Amino acid sequence: MAAASPSVASTLAPHPPLTDSHGRVIHDLRVSITDRCNYKCVYCRTGEVGAQYPELAGEEYLRLIRLFVGLGITKVRLTGGEPLLRRGVVELVGELARMRTPAGEPLDLAMTTNGHLLESLAGPLKAAGLNRVTVSMDAVDAATFERITRVQGSFPVVLKGIRAARDAGLTPLKINCVLLRGFNDDQVEGFARFAREEDVVVRFIEFMPLEEGRLWSPEIVVTLKEIVERIGRSLPLVELPPREASETARRYTFADGVGEIGIIAPVSQAFCGACSRVRLTSDGKIRTCLFSQVEHDLYGRLRAGADNEELRAYIVRTIQGKEARHHIGEPEFLKPSRSMVHIGG
Ligand code: SAM
Repeated sequence: MAAASPSVASTLAPHPPLTDSHGRVIHDLRVSITDRCNYKCVYCRTGEVGAQYPELAGEEYLRLIRLFVGLGITKVRLTGGEPLLRRGVVELVGELARMRTPAGEPLDLAMTTNGHLLESLAGPLKAAGLNRVTVSMDAVDAATFERITRVQGSFPVVLKGIRAARDAGLTPLKINCVLLRGFNDDQVEGFARFAREEDVVVRFIEFMPLEEGRLWSPEIVVTLKEIVERIGRSLPLVELPPREASETARRYTFADGVGEIGIIAPVSQAFCGACSRVRLTSDGKIRTCLFSQVEHDLYGRLRAGADNEELRAYIVRTIQGKEARHHIGEPEFLKPSRSMVHIGG
């Protein structure tokens, strides 16, 4: 990948923080760098559909990200699809690590991955400047895990990836687990023990209606309240104070202070009022909410020859129109046109 100048943003006039019309400051960008995935998690993908959207060249992601950074984005998370499938991912991280915010600070650089390719990539990613990873893992029991991912032998491979990431210093290492009633909710207590034994932060995420198939129902969601009660029966939990207003997870430690779990409850306790996020899809569309009904074709404008000022003005206008909140569970809820794997989780 050609070396990209970190200074393009700084050649543009300074801009006040990116805000939406609801007064929220947007400082967190999630970028999908591919919608391909090597897992077919049963709650996410039907298993029939592969990649659906094109990918941009590395330089194109960098140019777009740099514009966001010039507008006040301080945290960039690479995701997908499976981001580690993307050729040149280590070089892309290296270029991002060289970027600076208008205040001259490096970015907070994170990645969400299924961990399948992490064992060999953890060291190079850390060396390139990645700060931390979140690994998705929906069971601590190998058979259940492999039933979910639909990839034989995946459990020990991911476990090695997690340990390699921890050893490489991609910490605090978070493990995200989506719980589905009657399917993997028997893993809750095992995950609580896993958090303590492996020195990782396990975060349970309520299942959202973002799957390729039609699986979601309110009954299948295992709520925050239920998770806290269940774990508390064997390992009493103590809630921790939030570190920042936009923190999505409610955090808990165990009564003896060893280990941490978090619960992200977008369904039962929506946190849209504190949302600080915007997303860029693998094909360069801005999504202002996971549940947006419209996408904003930033890349289309770049291809049509828009200059950086024009692209920047388009980003500012688009973010102004960010939705107030999602409508999960309400009669007017409409499933978004893309599922999680094609948006970028
Ligand atoms: N392949 C990477 C991974 O596995 O982490 C990144 C993409 S994946 C779509 C990102 C995250 O979205 C995963 O933690 C996955 O469990 C979560 N996810 C997928 N579908 C979801 C849904 N319907 N509700 C909540 N989380 C979901």
